[in-house]
Formats: sequence, C-alpha cells, structure tokens
Amino acid sequence: MSLTFRFLNVGHGSSTIVEFDDGSKKHFGVVDSNAEADSEPRALEVLRTLGATELSFLCLTHPHRDHYSGLYAIGKHFTGKVGQFYSCPMGDLVANTRRRAKLAAHLVKIASRTDGMSERTAAFEFLQIIKWASTQENFWTECAGEENTIGPSGFSQVSIQTVLPLKVSKGEYIGRIERDDPNMFGNLDDNDISLAIRFSYAGVDVVLGGDGTLNNWRSRRNRFERNVGRRIMASVVNLPHHGSQHDSAPEVLENLFTIGGDRYGVTSANGHSHPSQDVIEWLSKQGISPFCTNLMPACGANASKLFAMPGISPELAAILRQTALSGGVIQPCQGDITLRIESAGNFAVVPQHSSFCGYRSSFASLFPAGP
Ligand SMILES: [Zn+2]
Ligand SMILES: [Zn+2]
Repeated sequence: MSLTFRFLNVGHGSSTIVEFDDGSKKHFGVVDSNAEADSEPRALEVLRTLGATELSFLCLTHPHRDHYSGLYAIGKHFTGKVGQFYSCPMGDLVANTRRRAKLAAHLVKIASRTDGMSERTAAFEFLQIIKWASTQENFWTECAGEENTIGPSGFSQVSIQTVLPLKVSKGEYIGRIERDDPNMFGNLDDNDISLAIRFSYAGVDVVLGGDGTLNNWRSRRNRFERNVGRRIMASVVNLPHHGSQHDSAPEVLENLFTIGGDRYGVTSANGHSHPSQDVIEWLSKQGISPFCTNLMPACGANASKLFAMPGISPELAAILRQTALSGGVIQPCQGDITLRIESAGNFAVVPQHSSFCGYRSSFASLFPAGP
C-alpha cells in the first residue's frame, strides 16, 4: 500500500494528483488544475498514463484561474465517475439552486461585457464548473474549518482534513459576481477562502497549502492551535501561494513543518514570479529540501546567468543566450515532482528532471565516491 502525490509542472499554477494504492486497487483524486485554453490539462494527460478510469474526488481550492482552468475538462472526461467534488466555501451556493441560476446569468453578463479574452474564458469556465458540480445530488461539498475531515471513497486509510480557511472566512468572490463586478478575476483577496488540505498516512503528514494566506495561517495559529495545543507537523508541504514571500513567510512555514527528519518543500510555480528566493533560502537553512517545478531566475542552476560572466567566449555566450531566452520559455527545474509514502512510513521524493540543486545540499551527487 502507498500514498502518492504528483505535483505537476503546470507553470504558474497548481495541479496535484493524489493516488492511494490499497494493494488491490488504485484510487485517484485531483486537487486543482492549470491549463492553457484549448489545451488538455496536464492532470488529465497524466491520469490517462496512470490508467485512471474514475476519480474518488476532484477539488478546487479557490476560484482563481491558475487553480481551476482545465478542471471542467477533467470533470467532463470522467462524467458520472467522480465520487465527490470539494470546493472552498462559496456562500450557500451548493444548497441554493436559485442563487446558482442567478449567478450563471451574472457570469454570462460579465463575460459579454468584457473585451478581454482571458476574462471571458475565465467567466465561462467558472460557469461550466458550477453547472457541472450541480448536476448530481450530494456531490458538491463546500469545505471550511480548522480541522474539517473529508472522506473520499477509497481513501479510508488516509486521514484527510481541510485546515484552511477558517470557519469564519466567507470571502467576497460570489458577492462580486452578483454585483456584476468584472474584477471578479484574480482578486488577491480570494486567496482568503483558499482551502489548505492535510493528508496523514503511515505517520507522515503532507500539506497542500493552496493559496493559503499569511493572515489565515496566523489566525489559525492564534484561534485554533493555541486552544487545542497542537499544530500542523508536516514532513512535506506544497508551499502556500506558490512559495510567495508574503504567504510562505518563515512564521507560516515554521508552524507547518515538523521538527527534524526528512522534510521537503515543494513549490508549484513558473519560477518567474514565484517562488521567492528568500523562501527557498530559508528552507535550505532549516535543512528542508526545496523542490521547485520551475527554475527561478535567481537560482544558481540558471544557465542564462552564465553568459553575463566575464571571460566567457562570445560564441558560447551567444548559444547560451539563445537557449535561455528562446521564446521566453520557462526553464523547468525538477518538473513534475512525485512523493510516495509507503505503508511502513518511509517516503521519498522523485523529480522528473533530477537537476542539481545548490539549495538542497545535493553536491554529493556531483562527486561520486572514488575507489
Ligand atoms: Zn495560485
Ligand atoms: Zn490564488
């Protein structure tokens, strides 16, 4: 038996496939998606290669496009074969069908008013997800709470809790749509309703941080953790808000990670805007191994920095420049990052590209032991 997480390289966004192998059957769930319009979501592509024919759950942490684009395509592909749809709190949208119908009309209105293609796509895509999630009874669950247990089928041996947002966080997202506010897209406040989820298996805790905010982590600590006398002690954290300096601040990570032992901080980001180098350096200093899907410009492994070095031959500099800058292509670092936890409690991280990382003290691999 094993529990596996695949943190997919989807640029600036998140998409995680969770797989529980109970020894006779593999059960799958997907948390978030990020995909270009008209292209297949990575999660779907990977699920196909894994032979998934159904999903125990599909989960949307919060209504930002870098977390929901492609989610509808995944749901549609598995129509009738998705056990549960979990989302952040969205008012009483699940229970209130009239409100849902009205919301649909507002989304159509917002989409027709804007000239921006991406806003229009975002509005329609969100509408598709709402409609899809509404098709079955008892299918869509809005989650919130400091320790709110969810139980997707096939995952009974894994303890799963949403740990953010707090019960009191409602968010303004639906309200903005109802006011026909075109700024419904990508408003940073909506990170305040982002789910963060903890999975516990074989004594190992893993947190998917969503776009959890500094404020919410702080309130969780002050209102909840101090009362119950325990905090999250995760060995692996998919860093909140793509490893942003603000939301993955030391006080947040200090509180999320367990003390000692093998610890890993995974960032799902494009490398350009996130993660913050400060965050990666902080992890490194604590002895927590960072794994980034993409390479940040400040990273020591970034080849584009080489051509600025004095003394380098002009021909080599030109080649490097072209390679590094061609089409603005983002340099992948570790690519997809797979974490597998075995039933005995041992776990390992396997990256798609095992690029050398100076922040991970992996120098040893460069110097194989001599005779
Ligand atoms: Zn995000
Ligand atoms: Zn967000």
